[in-house]
Amino acid sequence: MKNKSIELAKDLISFIDNSPVSYFAAKNIINTLENSGYKALNEGDKWSLKLGGKYYIQRNQSSVLAFNLGNKLPWESGFNIAGAHTDSPHLKLKNESLEKQAGCVKVSIETYGGGINSTWLDRDLSLAGRISLKTEKGIETRLVDFKRAIGSLPNLAIHLNRSLNKGVEYNKQTQLPVILLANSQNVDEKTFLKEIVGKEAGVLADAILDMDLFFYDTQKGELIGLEEDIITVGRLDNLAMCHAIYKSLVAVETAEASNIAAFFDSEEIGSRTLMGADSNYLDGLLNRIVFSLGGTLEDSLRARHHSFLISTDGAHALHPNYIDKHDKAYAPLINQGPVIKISSNFRYATTAKSAGVFINLCQKANVPYQKMANRSDLPSGSTIGPTASAGLGIQTVDVGNAMLAMHSIRESQGSLDHLYMVKVLKTFYCG
Ligand code: ZN
Repeated sequence: MKNKSIELAKDLISFIDNSPVSYFAAKNIINTLENSGYKALNEGDKWSLKLGGKYYIQRNQSSVLAFNLGNKLPWESGFNIAGAHTDSPHLKLKNESLEKQAGCVKVSIETYGGGINSTWLDRDLSLAGRISLKTEKGIETRLVDFKRAIGSLPNLAIHLNRSLNKGVEYNKQTQLPVILLANSQNVDEKTFLKEIVGKEAGVLADAILDMDLFFYDTQKGELIGLEEDIITVGRLDNLAMCHAIYKSLVAVETAEASNIAAFFDSEEIGSRTLMGADSNYLDGLLNRIVFSLGGTLEDSLRARHHSFLISTDGAHALHPNYIDKHDKAYAPLINQGPVIKISSNFRYATTAKSAGVFINLCQKANVPYQKMANRSDLPSGSTIGPTASAGLGIQTVDVGNAMLAMHSIRESQGSLDHLYMVKVLKTFYCG
């Protein structure tokens, strides 16, 4: 069991190290899908799908919906859906913001999602994302990743702010610009950014129309702890669950029900985008699958009644230094199994019935499980579960693995938990 969990954890770390932002996560997921026989479909084409077929679609190059049609019609056997999100908190480059100051060249950022800002200071930062280009064939997009550290966000010395250790709020506009160069001579503020990005992407600076670029930490993931049972790396929330889902999906051959894996973008900013869970993306896909197999809208609605969604995202582990922050009856521990997330106000979609379905899967997979609810005097977080459940009309459970330092530039979770989650998801997809 231990060797298996270490092997799987190393595979997860490699996926995350190679997925600095959502575009790369989607690309790596697609590579695995294609190697497992999944075929790309275009949303603009007419589809003729077949039972037993394996397909995927993508939106915005940052989100993927993959599906393996079962050997029974969906309105007879339903859809087994597992969902996660490809995005994580980042510092997003403001393309037009280059400025010279104190002999240095710096760029402004916007925070994407709700990260722990202080963890971005004094790290070696690289830049990755997507650019749009004018070419002879029209407008194209290209992914870019500098890979090496090209910037940093240095703290102010303690000697210049003696109260620094009492806690500090960083002003996003004035105190979080990233330094790219220590020598600003010979730098043209108007063209410099496009020039360095163009050089990295192998295109002319003049051809670049626009850029969506994000800073990220260059430090690679590690297995740490005396027994190597803790994974530390950025973006565990929620690339860990993306990894668990695609590993499980491709490991299971055609089942009775149709299996779907949903890798949404935009969860960290509320999911209300073209490629988020609060869009027509998955709802439209379910209809199109049913129509393509000869069903009607009524059949599509019937299919949802037979379907189940497991929404997977990080859960807060009990932090040994902050015991009071948890309700001790609902405080999950690292490496003690998947966590069922509960909120009476439906910040999580879990009900006694959907939790029961998940508990039954854990028992079938011989995997322990835990429950998490916030302290009653602390508001709960949320995720894609409630939005997707309401939008699709599908019974849903919200689950995840226990993790520490959620939304830090470097998060941690247990390696054994990752193996447990894959086991449960495989059992789910087996039907
Ligand atoms: Zn998340």
